[in-house]
Amino acid sequence: MIDHESTLRANLDAVRARIAAACRAAARNPSEVRLLPVSKTVDQARLRAAYALGLRELGENKVQEAQAKSEAMADLADLRWVLIGHLQTNKAKNAARFASEFQALDSLRAAEALDRHLQKEGRAMDVLVQVNTSGEDTKFGLPPDEVAAFVKKLPAFPSLRVRGLMTLALFSDDAARVRHCFVTLRTLRDRLRQDAPDGIAMDELSMGMSGDFELAIAEGATTVRVGTAIFGHRATPDSDYWPGFAGKPE
Ligand SMILES: *Cc1c(COP(=O)(O)O)cnc(C)c1O
Repeated sequence: MIDHESTLRANLDAVRARIAAACRAAARNPSEVRLLPVSKTVDQARLRAAYALGLRELGENKVQEAQAKSEAMADLADLRWVLIGHLQTNKAKNAARFASEFQALDSLRAAEALDRHLQKEGRAMDVLVQVNTSGEDTKFGLPPDEVAAFVKKLPAFPSLRVRGLMTLALFSDDAARVRHCFVTLRTLRDRLRQDAPDGIAMDELSMGMSGDFELAIAEGATTVRVGTAIFGHRATPDSDYWPGFAGKPE
């Protein structure tokens, strides 16, 4: 436990220093950037160590894994679970039970299923719409030009508190191409803000991961989702979490 804590503390300090430096470079206030730790594949002992260090929310890619962890750690009542991966409709019922936030909404079917189950549970959920800014077939999310029409339909789902947009950038060594994805998301958010329907907020930009969050912060990220840089390399290949994924550049 002590070992877990000292490694984690050092990693967290390093990530926070990187965020602070990126904010300085972009003339932004670090309080505008939420660090969402991504805990997929990370076991309970290390997650409890993270909690002991003050982390109060965890991002998970898969409903089943997240739910098992949330049940095992139900004693940590103020720990918030954030789903950041594609939601199959048949998992909406379980998601509605424990998740506080869902960052990968990209279909009306999922919206309808989540809203229905949330109403039964008497709960609400913060939601981000996932946008495919890289144009890759392997990435989930709506094409940018379909997002405006999609967002207009979301007021029909009163248990979904729509907060903004999320994206996964291209995995590439080419910073200009990665940055282009972040610019696309910010530009879209700014445009949607102008005529967002009542009750729909378009403030959040969840973008940037361990390898690219400085670029995302430069382009306006309000949430960065960071796994590897906090918890270390994952034993399970990312293709288990991102269907069709062939590998990140080293
Ligand atoms: C795993 C994951 C992350 C974190 O990736 P790292 O490169 O480990 O920081 C961010 N977003 C999503 C959607 C993920 O599945």
